This record gives sequence, structure tokens and C-alpha cells, in this order.
Amino acid sequence: MKKDPGCMHDPRDYSLPELSEALQQMGLPPFRARQLFSWLHQKQAANSDQMTSLPQSVRAQLQETFAIRAFEPFRTESSKDGSRKYVFKTADGHGIESVLIPERRHLTLCISTQIGCAMGCSFCCTGQLGLVRNLRPGEIVGQVLAIVREHGLAERLPNIVYMGMGEPLANYDNLITSIRILQDEHGLNYSHRKITVSTCGLVPGIAALGRDTDVNLAVSLNAPDDELRSTLMPINRTYPLAILLEALRGYPLPPRKRITFEYILMRDVNDSDRHARALAGLLKGLRCKINLIPFNEHSGSDVRAPAERRLAGFQSILVANNYTAPIRRSKGADIAAACGQLGRSAGGDAPR
Ligand code: SF4
Repeated sequence: MKKDPGCMHDPRDYSLPELSEALQQMGLPPFRARQLFSWLHQKQAANSDQMTSLPQSVRAQLQETFAIRAFEPFRTESSKDGSRKYVFKTADGHGIESVLIPERRHLTLCISTQIGCAMGCSFCCTGQLGLVRNLRPGEIVGQVLAIVREHGLAERLPNIVYMGMGEPLANYDNLITSIRILQDEHGLNYSHRKITVSTCGLVPGIAALGRDTDVNLAVSLNAPDDELRSTLMPINRTYPLAILLEALRGYPLPPRKRITFEYILMRDVNDSDRHARALAGLLKGLRCKINLIPFNEHSGSDVRAPAERRLAGFQSILVANNYTAPIRRSKGADIAAACGQLGRSAGGDAPR
């Protein structure tokens, strides 16, 4: 068993092939791994006693090897716009935040991949924390499992966006394992169409993601030139726009998919007509859509939201250049659950 030798393993950290290998080392055949995986991810057993299709002897073996415990939010907060924030507590006492957002036709679940974040984007609360640690696959998938169970959503799964706390591509192996777990037919059986990974622009991870998965890609852009983007997003100093765009132009995009760009509009920072025209030129020829997100004001930043008139002007320039550019108002601002606001619970207002 290769994960964390010496520790009790959370079996939710394992993809099905990994779980089969682990159980094989315990002398158990592959069908036992499929049964265990399905108990964990479809039937959501909280402990091995609930796995009634497994013989008592197998359950005892599992108990000796694995730490199977419920992963449940210790706090939830509801916004007046219908979105709901969940705070989970990790075994080492940190908070993980996830947000369930009602859209017109479906639900979207925004999940976290790290506690804190090392990327240091100037407009983001999580970035101000620095990186505390990566989340394990079971802690990533656990957010989905708990919320799907609480709302009875197994038959109408929410769309998943890896857009909460942390930079997903900076926790690459655990990200990929979590996607494999979510897509497994013996688990929640997620379609690639319902999963989106959002990155600030970690170029090596983008190429790998295109190679390893078929999920949707979103890129947090926020500026059309290097000078401005480097002040907002330090990652741009390592992977400037030319390198990022080259990686995106080479991305193996399936025929009916497009890349989503997120552009958070900040008053007098990146919201002028000049910025909109530069953005239109920058993305020329890329199959994409641009989500325009008005900045969510918060106490940790002096940045202000754009004026409504500016927002409309910016959008009209993109539309005139044949881009799809919807205005996406981030939800949950009143419970600190909107874009860039997550992270208050990360360092420890989680009870220990
Ligand atoms: S915007 Fe994303 S990548 Fe940037 S600091 Fe915040 S969580 Fe990290």
C-alpha cells in the first residue's frame, strides 16, 4: 500500500484501480474493491458495519487497515441569494470550504483543492493565507459526497467547478485522482461535461490536464497584458501571457468544447474600453467564452466593483468582436462564499 505508510488510510483517497491493488495486497479479490468503492461512493457508508454485503471477516480486515469515517460539514451558512456555504473540518483541524450555487437550470458545486493557496493573487482572500497544505483526494471528493447526500442529488448531480480554495493544478496528482474517483461508474459516475477545473495559469499543469483528462478547462485571466496581470497574479511572472496562450492554443480541446476565461472586473484597474479591446485581440482565434465577473468587495482589499455602465461597455466591446461574454454575478457575497472570498475558516476557526 503506497499512500502514507504507517498511517491509517482513508479509502476515499483511492481510485478504484488503486483500491483493487491495495485490497489485493490484503489477499482480497478485485470484486471486493468494487464493492467497497460502491459502498463508499454510491451508498455513502459512514463505516464498515454499514457495508452489509461484505462478510464480517472482510469488514474486520478493512477496519484494521482503513480509517473509514464520515466526512460531514460542521457548519453551513445560507445566503439570501440561495447559495449555501459548507465548512468541513479536516482530521488535523483545518477548515475546507465548498459552495453550492443554484443556477437557472442546475446546481453548481464549487469545491476546494488546498487549504490556503501559494499563488498570492492580490484580489483573493485565500491567496492572502499562503499555502497551508494540499487536500488529499478523499478530502476533495468528500466535499461532493457529503453535499450530494445532504440534498439527495445522486440522480441530478450538480456541476462541479474546481474553483474554491487553492490552485487545483498545484495539487495535480490528488486532483487527477479525485476526478477519476468522481467519474468512476462504480461511484458517482460523473460525466466529463459536468466537471470544470479552473487554473490561474500553471502552464505545465494545463498541458498535463489535457493529456490526462477530458474535463472542462477554465482560466482565470483578469488582465489583457503582462504588466497588469503580473501585478494582480504573480504566476504571470513565471508564465507570462504569450506562454499561457501558446499552451492554450495547443490544448487538445474536443470539438464541441471551448475554454472558459474568467475575467474579474475591478473598478479603474482592468475595466476600461482599452482593456476590453486588448482582451478581444489577445484571445483571437481561440475557441472560448469569457465570463465577466464583477469584483466582490471585501474587507481585505481596497479594490471596488466596477460601475454598471462600465460593465455593460466592457461586455459590448467583446460581443462586437464575436465573443460570448456573459456577466456572471458571483453569488454568496453575504456569507463570504463568493469568488475570491473563501478561506476564512482555513487556518483554524474550525473547532478542534
Ligand atoms: S485566485 Fe485562485 S489561484 Fe489565485 S490566490 Fe486565490 S485561490 Fe489561489
